[in-house]
Amino acid sequence: MTERVHLVSLGCARNDVDSEELLARLEQGGFELTDDPGTATAIVVNTCGFIEAARKDSVDTLLAAADLKQDGSVKAVVAVGCMAERYGRELADALPEADAVLGFDVYPDIAERLRWITAGGSVEAHQPRDRRRLLPLAPTDRPAAAAQVVLPGHAPASGPRVLRKRAGPGPMAALKVASGCDRRCTFCAIPSFRGSYLSRPADELVAEARWLAGQGVKELFLVSENTSSYGKDLRLGPRALENLLADLAAVDGIEWIRVSYLQPAELRPGMIEGMVAIDKVVPYFDLSFQHAAPGVLRRMRRFGDPDSFLALLDQVRTLAPAAGVRSNVIVGFPGETESDFATLMQFASDARLDALGVFGYSDEEGTEAAGLPGKLPDEVIAERLETMSVLAQELCDQRAAERVGERVQVLVEEPDGTGRAAHQGPEVDGATRLTGPRAVGSLVHAVVVVAEGIDLIAAEAP
Ligand code: SF4
Repeated sequence: MTERVHLVSLGCARNDVDSEELLARLEQGGFELTDDPGTATAIVVNTCGFIEAARKDSVDTLLAAADLKQDGSVKAVVAVGCMAERYGRELADALPEADAVLGFDVYPDIAERLRWITAGGSVEAHQPRDRRRLLPLAPTDRPAAAAQVVLPGHAPASGPRVLRKRAGPGPMAALKVASGCDRRCTFCAIPSFRGSYLSRPADELVAEARWLAGQGVKELFLVSENTSSYGKDLRLGPRALENLLADLAAVDGIEWIRVSYLQPAELRPGMIEGMVAIDKVVPYFDLSFQHAAPGVLRRMRRFGDPDSFLALLDQVRTLAPAAGVRSNVIVGFPGETESDFATLMQFASDARLDALGVFGYSDEEGTEAAGLPGKLPDEVIAERLETMSVLAQELCDQRAAERVGERVQVLVEEPDGTGRAAHQGPEVDGATRLTGPRAVGSLVHAVVVVAEGIDLIAAEAP
């Protein structure tokens, strides 16, 4: 009997790329893929372990999937992804409803693991922080290791193979250029479970970009924990990212390349120039400042101050005046004084950001920040979160209103003409709606006529 698997992808675009790799491996391993959990024999949940709310969502999704085991066809519920990697045994113990909790190392063998689990075989939970350990399978039942998948018709005749199955039809696809992080920001748990920074070789990325272009993708969204570090581990030299962007720009069919997760401390003027010089690289700068007060930044083990950040933004806007800039900040970090918070508010007011994500500090298990003195009371963090969020919304709405009259290029994502302008990243930076319908995947020159919050309405340019 053919086993049918349904995969739920939670969390960020990096997880979505992993999910598409898992789908490809499962299909190649003989599973039928289904969008309907009710008809699946196995449900895989690609979990997110980023913050408390994301972890709760992951657990709720696993429990909802486990409920389907009572009603019929579902035989196995399996957790993979960041939360599974990070909490392995702990998650398995807390959630006996899940049949297995599998870490990243298992991804190449996912099909054989899942076949074993749906057949009633037991697996141990992945042990967190033991990243190289593979789960034991019963030796007699272990099939030969799955061969690497070549998706028919899409891989080049020679060269790297593409291991991916698109989960949706849209004209934008994330391309994961690296995983892990070598920086050690004190509030961040990512390096503890994602490990050191590992860049993917450029030829592999170009092959994947070609395959995506063949699938109708127009926009590549480059993701990683820190894209400005691309190539350092491969010793590709100081222009590694610019060279990769040039190689990707040479792929026929790709019209836009968007770079995400740039680390302000690593953004050299040459890198900004290199990005702006490539036509297909959209003028979009995703710079997570996290704070602006120098003392708080130091305790975060990050660098900078309002003047250096504003100078960086000046450099960006001198080279690309219409550039979109998004950022994230954390308020209520241990030791943040009233004056530090005021510095952050002033910086946000001066920075002319298109989008600003605001997070209230909370202790993350295993991070240095969790052990820092000077923790603020929850009410103070909540109050600062509210104040900063209101300001961020006002400022970003204002910035969107400044774009009325501006000429923009819009990538259409919905048949009614809704899409995104070049300065808007997927999902978090608002949308631009054209005044009439257009074919999905079209790139349309338009003029912004109205701003509604951070969303824009634009009329096709004559
Ligand atoms: S650069 Fe980003 S991923 Fe790396 S440690 Fe800092 S916050 Fe975490």
